[in-house]
Amino acid sequence: MQNLWNESDASSLTPIEQLTYMSRLIGADTSLVVWGGGNTSLKLWEEDFRGRATYVLRVKGSGSDLKTIERKHFTGIRMDDAIAVESREDMTDDEMVAYLALCQTSHTDPRGSIETLLHAFLPATAVAHSHADAIVALCNNTRGAEAVREALGESVIQIPYRRPGFLLSKEVGAAVKENPHATGLVLMNHGLITWGETCKEAYDRHITLTNLAEEYLAKQRLGKAVFGGIQVAPLTEQRRHEIASAIAPLLRGAISVPKRMLLRYEDSKEVLDFVGSEQASRVSQIGAATPDHILSTKILPLFVTVTHPEDEAHVAQCIRESAQEWRDRYAAYFERNRKDQKSLDPTPRVVLIPGLGMWTTGKDLKTAQIPADIYRHTMQIIADAEGVSGYKTLSEPDGFDAEYWGLELYKLTLAPPEKELARRVVMVTGAASGIGRAIAEKFAQEGAHVAICDLNESDSQAVADAINKKQGSLCAIGIAMDVTQESAVQQGFAKVALAFGGLDIVVSNAGIAPTGKIEALSLETWERSFAVNATGHFLVAREAVKVLRAQGLGGSIVFNVTKNVFAPGADFGAYSCAKAAEAQLARILAIENGVFGIRVNMLNPDAIFEAGLWTPELKAERAKAKGIPLESFEQSIQQGNLLKAKVTAQDVAEAALFFASERSAKTTGAVLPVDGGLRDAFPR
Ligand code: ZN
Repeated sequence: MQNLWNESDASSLTPIEQLTYMSRLIGADTSLVVWGGGNTSLKLWEEDFRGRATYVLRVKGSGSDLKTIERKHFTGIRMDDAIAVESREDMTDDEMVAYLALCQTSHTDPRGSIETLLHAFLPATAVAHSHADAIVALCNNTRGAEAVREALGESVIQIPYRRPGFLLSKEVGAAVKENPHATGLVLMNHGLITWGETCKEAYDRHITLTNLAEEYLAKQRLGKAVFGGIQVAPLTEQRRHEIASAIAPLLRGAISVPKRMLLRYEDSKEVLDFVGSEQASRVSQIGAATPDHILSTKILPLFVTVTHPEDEAHVAQCIRESAQEWRDRYAAYFERNRKDQKSLDPTPRVVLIPGLGMWTTGKDLKTAQIPADIYRHTMQIIADAEGVSGYKTLSEPDGFDAEYWGLELYKLTLAPPEKELARRVVMVTGAASGIGRAIAEKFAQEGAHVAICDLNESDSQAVADAINKKQGSLCAIGIAMDVTQESAVQQGFAKVALAFGGLDIVVSNAGIAPTGKIEALSLETWERSFAVNATGHFLVAREAVKVLRAQGLGGSIVFNVTKNVFAPGADFGAYSCAKAAEAQLARILAIENGVFGIRVNMLNPDAIFEAGLWTPELKAERAKAKGIPLESFEQSIQQGNLLKAKVTAQDVAEAALFFASERSAKTTGAVLPVDGGLRDAFPR
């Protein structure tokens, strides 16, 4: 690991700026900390609100990330108040949090982290704490204490595992005071602490000790076959993705208890080497590397013991069995360790399948990325620890305490309520413009992950990019899909399964509107309308039903039909006839799939002039067919409905949301007009 401290950058900085500088150097290296882990501090003199000189601890506040930390994220704690409690026997977490709130120099600072008192009691100006992979590998080991001594020497203090809190803070403070010449401290099964008179000194020591650990681990691993070599070889990329997309919905269904999860797929070489190795089924079931990680990964991943990853039926069977086993084991673990807590969701966050790769799970795709980033480091830590002797981590009760830590449970209660379509995956066809786009945007706003499908990939992607930007997340993907092409439709569904892990809602919206009197219609026009407006819906629905049934979580399919089905118009035969086929398709699907909890409903919009369908030519021809001057066509259509309303794509999106969401949980085979009210088109 490189020491990245640059004196020409740092020397002109004030001490507090150097704290930010050091914190970001540590935060930028994922082999030191990932996703909000680790913390740093500096003690210094500041003026209080009345200008009195006050000795203050500036320590990383709760909820910030070292990588992006700013001055305002460091909480100010009055040192004389903080150290006043060092002589106490004990403090509960709640007492400590309440006390620290009173020690803050400003009530607008973030709440101090649980390790605040550790920083306060440690008699040094600057302090850095990380969960460096190499240090964690060194101490998560059957020879842990010896390995730490051999690698780092006698001048590094070792503290046996103890959950962060008051007692650990006290123990660390006392140990450093007893060993004034120590340069660092290893919290066993947890991480590294270094300190110094300046941030530079604390940082230099941090990197030096981490490097010593890395060198030691490299030497220990020399000539050893990590994890016993490959037992299940990875499939070729193409085959892997075929099987992965086919089984992902099934996996999602098997683990989405009690709530739906989003699944993120990863099949990097390091993942494939690990999951396919002889030892993976054993070493993956030992435990998480640090207590911090447990909050994101749970203690154990779900390892699916697959011997023939190319055999879809075998993989599916293995998933069903091992998901149930994992849940049973989680329930037993909870019963063994529970005090007065309620069980958290019994849902794995990391799923490993030999030959195929790793899936990580979360309430959205962004959250599902956290266990992936952590588990990549876990694999490295296990490999290094196995190289020394054997990977060994904190005990089950300690792990349980970390997962069911009151303060973390409390944080969960502060989370805002989930949006209506949270945890849902939606596919919208014809989504690059008009009604499809309005629906996709509306659904994303309501928390859904959306696949934007349209003929042109760059158009689809542009809409997806705009949605991601607006939502600040990874919730949308763009897919090129010609709904008349069987293979394109199948590939589109495979992409959605690979990107999100499954599917909950399909809005079959793509359509065209050819015009002309029957006697003047070319066969080509007639067939083209049926290809898009009937067969296209059939191909999409057929794949949707396959995925939804495999997943076993029910689902909702919404067809954008048209008021023409009930109220056909002249010169619109190719359109209206094909749309009638679409409507009949929807009814048949509703009949065939109700037993699987899959609802199928229809929207009958009329005269949504912003829809891509309404080309200037179409407008001209419909005006002609109805004998209305083109200039007053839109106005005249509007005046023709009962509400005299201008009907928009937003109105259709509202109706689509009703059918897609649980609000219409008991409705299938239904039609909802969105047309301002047309007597001729009343459903009957
Ligand atoms: Zn820590």
